[in-house]
Amino acid sequence: MVDHWIDGRRVTSPVRFDDISPIDGSVLAHVSRACPYEVDLAVDAAEKAFKHWRRTTREQRAEQLHKIADGVEKRLDELAAVETDDNGALLRSHVRGVMPRVVHNFRFFADWLVDEVRHPDFDTRGHTNHVSWDPAGVCALITPWNAPLMLASWKIAPALAAGNTVVLKPAEWSPLTASLLADITAEAGLPDGVFNVVQGYGVETGQHLVNSPKLRRISFTGSVPTGRAIAQAAAANLVPASLELGGKSPLIVFADADLDLAVQLAVEQYDNSGQVCLAGVRLLVEESVAAEFIAGFLTRADALRQGDPRDPGTDIGPLIHRRQLERVDAFVQRARADGARVLLGGGPNTELGGLYYRPTLLADIQPGSEILTEEVFGPVLTIQTFRTEDEAVTMANDTRYGLAATLVTGDADRARRVSDELVAGTVWVNCFFVRDLRAPFGGSRESGIGREGGHWSFDFYCDIRNTVTGWPHG
Ligand code: NAD
Repeated sequence: MVDHWIDGRRVTSPVRFDDISPIDGSVLAHVSRACPYEVDLAVDAAEKAFKHWRRTTREQRAEQLHKIADGVEKRLDELAAVETDDNGALLRSHVRGVMPRVVHNFRFFADWLVDEVRHPDFDTRGHTNHVSWDPAGVCALITPWNAPLMLASWKIAPALAAGNTVVLKPAEWSPLTASLLADITAEAGLPDGVFNVVQGYGVETGQHLVNSPKLRRISFTGSVPTGRAIAQAAAANLVPASLELGGKSPLIVFADADLDLAVQLAVEQYDNSGQVCLAGVRLLVEESVAAEFIAGFLTRADALRQGDPRDPGTDIGPLIHRRQLERVDAFVQRARADGARVLLGGGPNTELGGLYYRPTLLADIQPGSEILTEEVFGPVLTIQTFRTEDEAVTMANDTRYGLAATLVTGDADRARRVSDELVAGTVWVNCFFVRDLRAPFGGSRESGIGREGGHWSFDFYCDIRNTVTGWPHG
């Protein structure tokens, strides 16, 4: 049984849904499915708690966040195991990368608040301008299933640090670690109502939450269609919304690149079975090195081991859900019917069965076809070639998205020139997925609205006030 966490206690709904493990189809939990009544309870609890939480000092809130980080650290192995069962991502990635990042999210925003969130006073004709970052109020945080606790804590930490209270709605396909985090916040002594979790389906629980006129911020990570629905709800109440949405990012390989590195970075795009918003799924390779690149890629990709994500030797686990597998395969089969050539994979892994999809590479794709324009969110890459730098930039930007771009080149001038032309919230040159919480993060075009990270998070989660003071002379 997994229930909501509202005002410091467990709240049950009469209706439940099954949480199913993508590893073996077992039912992990019967989860309470919030109707408007429980959502309103959570928002009211957060509103009530805000009155006191907003009055705490920065240092007090930072101390609370560090205690939560301590709690996550203490239960790191348990959280990693639960999240692997829940969303099928590799256990070793959860232990080594994801959960340590959760800890870091809490510690980073605690310290950043205390050390960095300030602006020097300035003078206007003998008057002092003083800028303050005031807490905004109740924040609704809505997260997807591909990195559940990492993405939730990336929002929860700055929202709480800023003095807001939170209602979190995790994805219905991965509800478990958010529920464990609620216990950790209680053990850390977070006052009742400051952090609340409501479980349920997006179209009912999530939609009712974002419709609430009591919210002061909405932060959402997920797909573009849901982002549109949330933006509409936010517009109705004039609530600032941060939207971190999908992508169809390019990975550009120039002939002057270190090809080994390019191949390694390209194969990394299969991590988490390609269920990564930032993945560089469109491989754009300079024609003169394409044959060599493909040969290297196939050798390396062939060596990937697909299987149980709890096994330390596994490189690629299952997809999250039967619906996701069917969606991914439908994209691949339509591309094949459209003339795409399969260089690798091309369908479900029938030996393993279940939700395992073979890492796939498609070539000879019709320009403008959906496999080049729509987000697949599975282990499916496409390869296209280009002849000139201009052509590479045009192909890279030929998308409705603008989340990330990866560029592999040995020429520093080209790196600067091309980066300047790319439409993307993050550009990686000769690397991939190097993330620093001080950096702005977000997407351009349909990949999102706004930036979070470092100062940008506090600018979003706070009401920023300027106080101008003049003292009469003498
Ligand atoms: P999704 O949009 O289907 O769901 C995300 C969350 O929104 C879930 O919690 C869901 O229950 C909720 N939701 C659904 N409909 C809602 C509604 N009408 N009102 C309120 N909430 C609603 O996305 P998903 O399938 O869970 O995740 C995959 C998507 O997330 C991909 O598009 C991926 O690119 C994107 N993503 C983006 C980032 C980023 O940082 N830009 C990171 C990870 C994932």
